[in-house]
Parts: sequence; C-alpha cells; structure tokens
Amino acid sequence: MTKYLLKCVECKKYGLPNDKLKCRYCGGRLANPKPPKFSLTDKWAKYRIIYFKEEFEKKFE
Ligand SMILES: [Zn+2]
Repeated sequence: MTKYLLKCVECKKYGLPNDKLKCRYCGGRLANPKPPKFSLTDKWAKYRIIYFKEEFEKKFE
C-alpha cells in the first residue's frame, strides 16, 4: 500500500489515494501535493514578464 497522501485540488484537504483519486470531502481531484517544478518557473516567469514589460515601456516612452 502506498504511504503517500494526496491533496485535493479543490478543497486543499489531504486524503489517502483511492481508486478514482477522488476527494472524499468534495469529490474533487486528488493530486500529489509536492509542488511541481514548473510552478516555480511560472512564478519567476511572471516576474520576468513584469520586468520585460517595464523595460519595454522605458524604451518606447
Ligand atoms: Zn476536496
């Protein structure tokens, strides 16, 4: 049996994995709670976009 706890993407509660990976609280999808790497990338990408936007505006003012 797996020891992993999964986290509901809807209500953010933790639950044990079941056949359908369905949250027993709200019926939402259970997913691995470990933050995927790309979320960090996304976070920085957001800052990069803001940065480039500012740079862009400076150049074309
Ligand atoms: Zn849920």
